Amino acid sequence: MNLILMGLPGAGKGTQAEKIIDAYHIPHISTGDMFRAAMAAKTELGQQAKSYMDKGELVPDEVTCGIVKDRLGEDDTAVGYLLDGFPRTLSQAEALETINADLNKPLDGVINIDVDPASLMERLTGRFICKNCGATYHKLYKPTKVEGTCDRCGGHEFFQRDDDKPETVKNRLAVNEKMNTPLLKFYGDKGILFNIDGNRDIDVVFEDIKKVLDSFTK
Ligand SMILES: [Zn+2]
Repeated sequence: MNLILMGLPGAGKGTQAEKIIDAYHIPHISTGDMFRAAMAAKTELGQQAKSYMDKGELVPDEVTCGIVKDRLGEDDTAVGYLLDGFPRTLSQAEALETINADLNKPLDGVINIDVDPASLMERLTGRFICKNCGATYHKLYKPTKVEGTCDRCGGHEFFQRDDDKPETVKNRLAVNEKMNTPLLKFYGDKGILFNIDGNRDIDVVFEDIKKVLDSFTK
């Protein structure tokens, strides 16, 4: 089964990707891994990608899509694949259509984990760190036992990394949402978009994903 997994930062994409590959034994193909592998293997496209990255430039679509095509053409994708982090743009989505047609590996579905923006903000801005000992906490997932007191050292002063601050997170979400919107429409129009309500427990979300995936294998 050939899949794309989508979701804004904080939506739980990584967790669900792990569950999908464990349950369905398809390779997890993330953009980062794909680039690292192509560069390590020193493929022609990998070296081209590296030359752009070394200059701090964006890797052009033709290089990125070439790397994707090489990767999707490998033997392990005979059972399917879970694409993660690609496509990012409409033109990449269109290029993927061509790649899939060439390889005869058409998409079965695009799984979009949908979480409301307020919850994403809570999830992504919850992390705080003890100023004294560096212990890391999270307002939702790992609070201190006594409010305002570090479990480890008893310190009372905490700080947030710049990446976890509300303004930064809000921006990151807005950028990603803007990027995802045309992709969701593209796959929605094709009738292969499956929106999964991600505002629930990890296992409940996965049950819903499984229902969709099991419908492909029947
Ligand atoms: Zn501490």
